[in-house]
This record gives sequence, C-alpha cells and structure tokens, in this order.
Amino acid sequence: MANSIKLEGLVYEAAADGSALASERAVTPQLVEDDLALDRSLRPKRLDDYLGQTKVKESLTILIEAAQKRNDVVDHILFSGPPGLGKTTLATVVANELGTSIRTTSGPAIARTGDLAAILTNLEEGDVLFIDEIHRLNRMVEEVLYPALEDYALDIVVGQGPAARSIRIDIPRFTLVGATTRTGLLTGPLRDRFGIVYRLQYYTPDELASIVKRSAALLDVAVEEEGALEIARRSRGTPRLANRLLKRVRDWTQVRGDGVITEDAAAEALTFFEIDDLGLDALDNRVLELLCVQFSGRPVGLTTLASALSDDPDTVEDVYEPFLMQQGLLVRTPKGRQATDRAFEHLGLVPPERD
Ligand code: ADP
Repeated sequence: MANSIKLEGLVYEAAADGSALASERAVTPQLVEDDLALDRSLRPKRLDDYLGQTKVKESLTILIEAAQKRNDVVDHILFSGPPGLGKTTLATVVANELGTSIRTTSGPAIARTGDLAAILTNLEEGDVLFIDEIHRLNRMVEEVLYPALEDYALDIVVGQGPAARSIRIDIPRFTLVGATTRTGLLTGPLRDRFGIVYRLQYYTPDELASIVKRSAALLDVAVEEEGALEIARRSRGTPRLANRLLKRVRDWTQVRGDGVITEDAAAEALTFFEIDDLGLDALDNRVLELLCVQFSGRPVGLTTLASALSDDPDTVEDVYEPFLMQQGLLVRTPKGRQATDRAFEHLGLVPPERD
C-alpha cells in the first residue's frame, strides 16, 4: 500500500499506521483507495454544488465577497469535524470561488521546517494553502508557520554558531485553510491564528439524499426519491459514505435488480452488504452485542471492551464509539462504556431495569 496518493493536485496521506487509506469496512468514514476515482468525479467545485452546511456556506460567501471587495486576501480558515464531511472539498471550493490556485498538503507530510519554507516561498499572491490533519504538524514546523500567518514573512537562520543570525524574508500573501478531525489536539497559538473556525456538522438524511441524487445524476444512475433517502439514512450523516454506498447499491441493482435504485432495491442491497437501517455494520453491532449481552448492559472499561473485540483501545475510541454515541446507542460513563436502552431495542432485546 502506498503511503500517499496524489489525485488532481490533492495529496492523500496515509496515517503512520496506514489507517487513513486502509480499511476494509464499507462504512469507514476515512478515505479508502476505492473512493479515489469516485472522489474525482463527484467532488463539488463551487459553493452552489456544495449541498448542506448552510450556515458555513453563508458565512463563507460573506467572507469571500468582503475580501474581494477590499481587494484583500481571505482570512485564514480552520475546518473541523469528523472525516468525510467535506473539509477538503470546501478548501478547493474556496480557492475556486476566489479564482486562485490551491496547494494541498497535510500535517504529517511536512516533516521539516525546510519543507514548509519551500511550500510557502512557491505560493503566489492570494493562493490557498490547504493543510489537512493540521493538528499533526510538528512543533518546529508550527513555529515557522506563525510569522508566515501573521506577517507573511519567514524567519530564516543563516550561518552557524556565534555567527548565526536570523533574516526575515517576505512571502506572498496567502490564505491558509486547515482541516482537523481533532480540534482538541491543536495547540492554542495555532488555533488563535485562524481568523475563523467552522465546525462541520453531520448531514441530515434530507441533505444526504440531495447529495445522493446529485451524484447519481453525475454517474448516470437512475435513482428514485425514496431510494436516495434510503441510502442517505444509512450513511451515518457523511457524504463520503453516501457516495460509496450509492456506488455499491448501483452495482447491486445492475446485477440483481433492473438498474433503478428504488427504496426496496436500496434496502435490499444495503442489507446484503450488512449495513443495517441505522447505518451500522457487523462490527458496530458486535460492539452493541457485547455491551448488551455479554456484559448485560453494565459499564465496561475501554480496555476490557477492546480486548473482547480483539481490537486496540484507540480504534474503539476513534472509530466505533463516535457514531454509536452520536446515535444514542452508547454512553461513556465514569465507570466505563455502557449500552443505552436504544441499543437493546436496536438489537431486538428488552432493556434491563436500571435504578
Ligand atoms: P473530508 O476532507 O472532511 O474528509 P472530503 O472533502 O474529502 O471530506 O469529502 C468527501 C467526499 O464527499 C467528497 O469527495 C465529495 O464528493 C463528497 N462531499 C463532501 N461534502 C459534500 C457536500 N457538501 N456536497 C456534496 N458532496 C460532498
């Protein structure tokens, strides 16, 4: 597996453990290799094609128009939120709306200060620099970024030992667009240097249904309104998943159905791929089963749960839990992870009496 994949100027980096690109789960919100071609054809280019996130779009429109009126560069922007919600897409949309170029990289890809200096000095006036997973920049690189963000300048040390001195060189004025899945891991000084921070929210089923319909039209796939909604309901509020499931359902209907994605066809195809009506796959349901049946609804420590799943605690915490919590199926209590009544009902079980 390659560590990074380049596509239309966007560089997709695998995490150190390979997890950003390597996952077998149909419902993983991270980018998998299979998504890349799909990504190229479906990624919205302008704000008008970017569906949902209405508040963010409105605010961005104002930000962009105001900067254009002042003939100024747009303030540095931070997008935060879970993977697959459209942070990278928004960065390219901002550049397209501004009519400027975008240079794309990621926190882990900028290993040395010299790498960042090279990127910054190669920018042109008004360009957008997109840094994905910006919370993973190393501290030394971050220090170089501060004056670049504030004064559009680079402080470079020349010479060595007592003769060393720092000279300041100007760089073109640019807009940094940062994306992070973990705002909490961003250092205070870096967070403070963003003029504006947007938290992307999970999409509603209606918004996702619009995205499915747009994608189906681009892929030349026939989809009925209810079929789009059925895919949307099982997509965990995430456009990347909606597009991926659409592709799977399309394949299924072409082989087993008559090529049209109806509500029944979508439901049958997704059940075939083991994605249930809440968008949970077999692994999510295994987590719930363990909590409800094996541990009888009692709170369970993270490490105990992880070893029962034969998985590591980080994966349980970062991959399984967020969506189960968001759906109100699992809660984190001081004593450990616990299944909610809704989890029991989802599995067709009777919730236990609780005091
Ligand atoms: P992130 O950077 O947050 O992980 P991406 O920007 O890569 O997410 O989005 C994943 C895919 O989902 C994109 O390729 C795009 O096709 C689709 N997508 C994301 N947001 C939207 C949206 N608001 N409207 C339509 N499609 C979207």
